[in-house]
Amino acid sequence: MFELTGKYKLVQQMAKEFAEKEIKPIAQEIDENERFPEESIPKLFKAGIMGSQFPEEFGGEGGDTMSYVIALEEIGKVCATTATIVSIHSSIGINLLIKYGNKEQQEKYLPILTSKGIAAFLLTEPQAGTDATNQKTTAIKDGDYYIINGRKMFISNAGHNDLYIVIAVTDADKGTKGITAFLVEPDNPGIRVGKPLKKMGIRGSSTSAVFLKDCKVHKDSILGNEGDGIKIALGTLDTGRIGIAAESIGIAQGALDEAIKYVNKREQFNQKLSAFQNTQFKIADMQTKIDAGRLLIWRAATLKDDGKNYAKEAAMAKLYCSEIANDSTRLAVQLFGGYGYLRGNHVERMMRDAKITEIYEGTSEAQKIVISRFLGVK
Ligand SMILES: Cc1cc2nc3c(=O)[nH]c(=O)nc-3n(C[C@H](O)[C@H](O)[C@H](O)COP(=O)(O)OP(=O)(O)OC[C@H]3O[C@@H](n4cnc5c(N)ncnc54)[C@H](O)[C@@H]3O)c2cc1C
Repeated sequence: MFELTGKYKLVQQMAKEFAEKEIKPIAQEIDENERFPEESIPKLFKAGIMGSQFPEEFGGEGGDTMSYVIALEEIGKVCATTATIVSIHSSIGINLLIKYGNKEQQEKYLPILTSKGIAAFLLTEPQAGTDATNQKTTAIKDGDYYIINGRKMFISNAGHNDLYIVIAVTDADKGTKGITAFLVEPDNPGIRVGKPLKKMGIRGSSTSAVFLKDCKVHKDSILGNEGDGIKIALGTLDTGRIGIAAESIGIAQGALDEAIKYVNKREQFNQKLSAFQNTQFKIADMQTKIDAGRLLIWRAATLKDDGKNYAKEAAMAKLYCSEIANDSTRLAVQLFGGYGYLRGNHVERMMRDAKITEIYEGTSEAQKIVISRFLGVK
């Protein structure tokens, strides 16, 4: 697919209008005040952005991964903070419940996760970053219950969520097969969210350490089967990466759109900046790379929608699009000159926001490891 038609065109139009009207006006303020945009959550649900990729029977909008990446790009264009909130909730939270939740879990949590409440995913620990399998959080069986103890790091949406998905070791002797995923409700007295961490970018999104102390959960809270935790976590990141790629290409396109408006207005040496060939070439290069990145995303999304393996393609899309987000925002700031360096300018925020896309849901290096493995490099 090289051009959007039919329902995808409509999704794009709707998401663009929504992003311009509801998200862009507060993007600078939530960044400046490092404020989680609580008021955007009901609007995102109402607009169908949160559940855009899920079947109606699960409370979604009946769309697919293509609809989702198209909508997420539009959100990313104006506010990467909001795109992060959507991406983690949708690609990881709802997706995990649909893929691995049993009937009771789906009936209990999906109506909430598709209408008002968001999810947080607790994989990373202080010592378990890229090496996500090096988990130290334990879940010890006690009759029909498990007692979870440990510390999670860098948890997005924490403190603003209605469900935690916690990865913990249930049987250390079994290695990666002894790790399990649990559903934990936020009012569980054994879970505590640390202070929001101060960040370079996506400053409206909340990122905190989460502490689990004698956190007691019933065995019915296991997502999938005992021992499936790493399979669930790593498989989920494949889906998550398509989302982060879409957010990245949104940031890149958003910065380029701002730059084009500026160079067509700003004059130096009695001519518009746009008249300099240096400007024209930069802009041509930026759009060409953005279009290439978008096609990588659409390929991964289409493979997923067709039920084919998409892990390599998702990693490629995430790797390339996050690089493009960083290149494009840096060049946009350059085209704005000193004005691009000022706080309050969209491109200044976008340049800071772009960096995280090369880090979370697997660093760029982690994507290269995934891609090279698929190419038979051992
Ligand atoms: C804002 C933010 C939000 C996040 N949200 C979440 C969340 O919601 N849930 C969650 O579980 N986690 C979350 N994370 C964690 C994120 O996924 C990790 O930060 C990321 O996976 C990298 O882990 P690390 O920070 O420990 O870095 P490290 O793993 O220590 O990596 C440091 C550097 O070493 C490189 N490196 C590591 N191993 C290798 C290797 N084998 N080969 C080559 N290079 C290597 C890395 O690429 C990187 O450049 C978030 C992080 C941030 C900053």
